[in-house]
Amino acid sequence: MDLSIVVPLYNEAESLPELHEWITRVMTENGFSYEIFFVNDGSTDTSWQVIEGLAAADTHVHGIKFRRNYGKSPALFCGFKAAQGNVVITMDADLQDSPDEIPELYRMITEDGYDLVSGYKQKRYDPLSKTIPTKLFNATARKVSGIPNLHDFNCGLKAYRRDVVKNIEVYGEMHRYIPYLAKNAGFGKIGEKVVHHQARKFGKTKFGGLNRFVNGYLDLLTLWFLDSFGKKPMHVFGFLGSVMFFIGFVAVVVVGGVKLAHIVGGTPAPLVTDSPYFYIALTMMLLGSQFFLAGFIGELVSRNAASRNEYQIEKEI
Ligand code: UDP
Ligand code: MG
Repeated sequence: MDLSIVVPLYNEAESLPELHEWITRVMTENGFSYEIFFVNDGSTDTSWQVIEGLAAADTHVHGIKFRRNYGKSPALFCGFKAAQGNVVITMDADLQDSPDEIPELYRMITEDGYDLVSGYKQKRYDPLSKTIPTKLFNATARKVSGIPNLHDFNCGLKAYRRDVVKNIEVYGEMHRYIPYLAKNAGFGKIGEKVVHHQARKFGKTKFGGLNRFVNGYLDLLTLWFLDSFGKKPMHVFGFLGSVMFFIGFVAVVVVGGVKLAHIVGGTPAPLVTDSPYFYIALTMMLLGSQFFLAGFIGELVSRNAASRNEYQIEKEI
């Protein structure tokens, strides 16, 4: 099968028939063999009935229904698990992403050899409150992830080689960083294609709140940590602990040395608690041992992780 199209959706009943029709038109015009997975993420409207209707009339259509709303990442994860096509396309259900982009995305994966191609909504039809923070977010993500050529990490429209979706685990709200997940899994050829974007036709955005920026940055930090130290936590905590311990040790030497100098010189020694070095020594030694402890616990946790010896093996002969 050429293509699997995975559509996560939450309360998008009005958009679905038009989206289905549009995808079908593009697929038949280009002669693709394909399947469509509508992943209903606990919609409270009639989305599921609409999907049932579409599936009854068209064997290309499959539906997955969550019992409750889990989020876009879990929806993508389940769609990825089910997908059979050589190339997997993800797109939003709200008609903001255009199925007309699919043939070119498919060509970039199959002919240009990309592992992942992300859409880039260069001209966005979203309110300013969304587009400005997004610019900042993408700049940070580019830096941290080490993927300098992506302008739009979180674009819903993306194309993947099948191996990619079978070897990454999208969870929590990590859908914002799928290119980073792919890169960490060893899929390095990541490209971008400028795509058409349209204003939302029905319903309203599900990602409006401010907390998504805080959470987005925290997730980025997590991924960076997992990527850098996930398999060797002692390397980061042990390093920090050593630095702290060293500073603490120097402070102890200073405090002790001053005291000793006074005793040797026969002058009355000041109280050690009067010296700032005393407090530096105290906090640094305490913090240093805490960091070491965190490092040891991290090592114990990662030694017990089920995935501790999971590596991406590309080929064997
Ligand atoms: N979505 C989802 N589960 C959620 C929230 C959103 O499956 O909990 C889907 C939503 O139906 C849409 C896509 O994720 O197909 C992108 O959401 P939206 O269009 O609201 O985001 P925006 O385009 O405003 O960033
Ligand atoms: Mg949208």
